[in-house]
Amino acid sequence: MTGEKNLSEFDAVVVGAGFSGLYMLLKLREAGLKTRLYEAGDGIGGTWFWNRYPGARCDVPSLQYSYAFDEELQQEWKWPERYSAQGDILKYIQHVADRFDLMKDVQLSTRVKKATYDDVNKKWLIDTDNQKVKARFCVMATGCLSSANSPSFPGLHAFEGTTYHTGNWPHSKVDFSGKIVGVIGTGSSAIQSIPEIASEAKQLYVFQRTPNFSVPAENKIVDSTLEEKIKANYPEYRKEWASKPFAYDLKVNEGKAISASKEELLVEYERRWKDGGLMFLGAFSDLLLDKTANDTAAEFIRGKIKEIVSDPNVASMLMPDHYVGCKRLCADSGYYETFNRDNVTLVDISDNSIDTFDEKGINLSSGEHISLDDVVFATGFDAMTGALDKIDIIGKNQISLRKKWKEGPKSYLGLGISGFPNLFHIAGPGSPSVLTNMLVSIQQHVEWITDCITWMREKGFSKIEASKEAENSWVAHVNEVADLTVYPLCNSWYLGANIPGKTRQFMPYVGGFPPYVKKCNDVASKGYEGFKVS
Ligand SMILES: Cc1cc2nc3c(=O)[nH]c(=O)nc-3n(C[C@H](O)[C@H](O)[C@H](O)COP(=O)(O)OP(=O)(O)OC[C@H]3O[C@@H](n4cnc5c(N)ncnc54)[C@H](O)[C@@H]3O)c2cc1C
Repeated sequence: MTGEKNLSEFDAVVVGAGFSGLYMLLKLREAGLKTRLYEAGDGIGGTWFWNRYPGARCDVPSLQYSYAFDEELQQEWKWPERYSAQGDILKYIQHVADRFDLMKDVQLSTRVKKATYDDVNKKWLIDTDNQKVKARFCVMATGCLSSANSPSFPGLHAFEGTTYHTGNWPHSKVDFSGKIVGVIGTGSSAIQSIPEIASEAKQLYVFQRTPNFSVPAENKIVDSTLEEKIKANYPEYRKEWASKPFAYDLKVNEGKAISASKEELLVEYERRWKDGGLMFLGAFSDLLLDKTANDTAAEFIRGKIKEIVSDPNVASMLMPDHYVGCKRLCADSGYYETFNRDNVTLVDISDNSIDTFDEKGINLSSGEHISLDDVVFATGFDAMTGALDKIDIIGKNQISLRKKWKEGPKSYLGLGISGFPNLFHIAGPGSPSVLTNMLVSIQQHVEWITDCITWMREKGFSKIEASKEAENSWVAHVNEVADLTVYPLCNSWYLGANIPGKTRQFMPYVGGFPPYVKKCNDVASKGYEGFKVS
């Protein structure tokens, strides 16, 4: 590695300025590390910087989907809505950055292209699109849902209208009034945006390959009594929520759907439907574990779709036939109702697929042509591995991460990767990540990584690497617990099934947040068991 001597050097480089990267920067700085954060976008916020589509909001209550690490911060911040909108979450992130003076170590509009481990000096060489630096530690806070999936359709380049991707939305208001708009996809972003776009557009075509389950969000202004109650004892509430399997207050009913009577099922599902949000998944303790139990929830939601949507054909097209929750359950504001509007047409592309685009719109395989002014791709993300896959990460002995993960991602605790010393990633595959309130997972990861680096420095170590054995046994455990649930039974992005050619492997850890934390703490208390340190 000659010629690298004169590079600027940091103790740590963090990649990505979302919730993960910003908190990582703060903690490393507090631990005394000279840290630089690189962010590809021209602003901070990650998910909440990029996803500005109409209707974008969180589906974990804002009083929980927020940082817990600073009592003053959580006391002073006022969330306007139960599930805050993208703009309000972005304001919060900007407030945090100002409050903790983070921007001085953040370099925006800088994409990390390559990271190469120099085993002789035990440092990472980081290549961005405009400079090269070195650092002892590299933390990939690149996001699980940050690499937009944009399928390529023949003829798309010829389309004369405007195209948008929900995951990379313009910064100024897009005006759909008077337009004929096509939305491709019916996942979470589509389900949030369709009611909003429909209320503005002249005509909306929704192109659906697979229907998804959605429950009403019942979003509203934050209940001030609840806010006061929580703020009076915030740390205790945070502790209690973090002790739940999904790291938020899902209120899982202890009863089982398989042993409940028809009336009991109906009462509980109705109650959860009325209360709104993902709490629906907690209606019975066996919903995600038992197919028969899950069928009762699926049947209930299908019944609701039938009740809400006036045209029986459209209702039946909207009814999913997979297990509830095995694809991310969506929370909506008037999604199914939108299909009763005269200006909305549902186009089933499961058999009659999109063949080509032309100047004026979309040609279906049946030969039908649909004229469109604008097209919105709500086609999601190359989840969990996509952002890392875009970086040329070269570990020890010239191993490339892309190559290592070709047959599916492997990591130890979702934090470290064998062959890639001193590289950490946040909320990646093998971590509870997207199955939890991610703010809680993110904070736990960041604090664990900071403790690990601090411990290494105290002990005089300069290199840490997950062992192959520990990694293999963690991956086996991740798969084993996933196989006890209904999660692997759908073609979901959790499995990589939305990306052609991606190896199918259930990526997040479904064993529950508290056991995961216990495992991480045990590993740390045993001198970072499963890692090789030197
Ligand atoms: C629409 C939407 C709604 C969501 N709602 C919820 C919710 O209600 N609850 C929940 O728990 N989670 C939710 N999530 C998941 C959400 O992604 C996380 O909660 C959280 O915001 C992730 O933060 P992060 O910092 O890990 O990643 P991100 O916010 O994705 O940030 C990663 C950053 O890394 C940058 N980056 C990536 N690669 C590079 C590179 N090579 N060089 C430089 N920069 C790079 C990206 O530009 C991005 O800014 C939602 C996700 C989406 C898309």
